[in-house]
Amino acid sequence: MNLDVPTGIGAAFAFIFGASVGSFVCMVAYRLPRDLSIVSPRSYCESCERALPWWANIPIFAYLGLKGRCVLCGAPIPFRHFLAEVGLAVIALFLFLAFPLPDAIARFVLCAALWIVAIIDYDWRLIPNIITWPGMLVGLILASLMMPEIGWKSSLLGIILGGGVLFGTGYLYQLVRGREGVGLGDVWLLGMVGGFLGWPGVLFTMFFGSLIGAVGGIVFAVAGGGSTAPAPLGEPASDPEEADVSILRTEVPFGPYLALAAGVYAVFQPQLAHWYLS
Ligand SMILES: [Zn+2]
Repeated sequence: MNLDVPTGIGAAFAFIFGASVGSFVCMVAYRLPRDLSIVSPRSYCESCERALPWWANIPIFAYLGLKGRCVLCGAPIPFRHFLAEVGLAVIALFLFLAFPLPDAIARFVLCAALWIVAIIDYDWRLIPNIITWPGMLVGLILASLMMPEIGWKSSLLGIILGGGVLFGTGYLYQLVRGREGVGLGDVWLLGMVGGFLGWPGVLFTMFFGSLIGAVGGIVFAVAGGGSTAPAPLGEPASDPEEADVSILRTEVPFGPYLALAAGVYAVFQPQLAHWYLS
């Protein structure tokens, strides 16, 4: 790869920008479900709730320098902050180098939204519509204007496929079994993914997300997670059909797996297409 000086400066900027967004993503994921304002107050410690000095907000370095502890009260800073800062910094750097700038920006917007959704679904078992509903529209606009490999047709089909198919499946499941099969949050999440990544992106996200979800569910159960999906009263737990669908039940957060799968597609779409065609 030809790394000249402007590219090097751009890459450094992309990394720093990505790390800052990672810090912002954690703040949003913490405050949004608690109905706290995103704008004010400025960052504070989640344990002692005191405002942090500016330098304690420097992404990545503050965490390393403070050895993962709050400078005011010494409480451990959740490792997810560090993970989001490093993760989104690396993603921003990679996208900057691999895609034309507008395309890279559009893909990064999706990755940041997915990261917020994943944390909130993991913590609360819900996916906020306030992210996925505007996300579908933003996805359609960005895919039309800034993502030549997606385009508005595929984006529109993606929204219909993502929202429609899973919604239909969930509705059918509810009719047959008499309870909610797929969380509506997952449906809107796939709609947003479709808006950004088109209908092939939705297909990939559904299949790859289910795959890693199944593996993750098994690992979780073996590791002693125990109460992943308790069998409802009056139904035999050994019903084989039950085992098949339990992964789609809302007792297990499915959003993080879908988010991971969609993120993989957003970042590695050219490689995946090349690998699939060859
Ligand atoms: Zn503190």
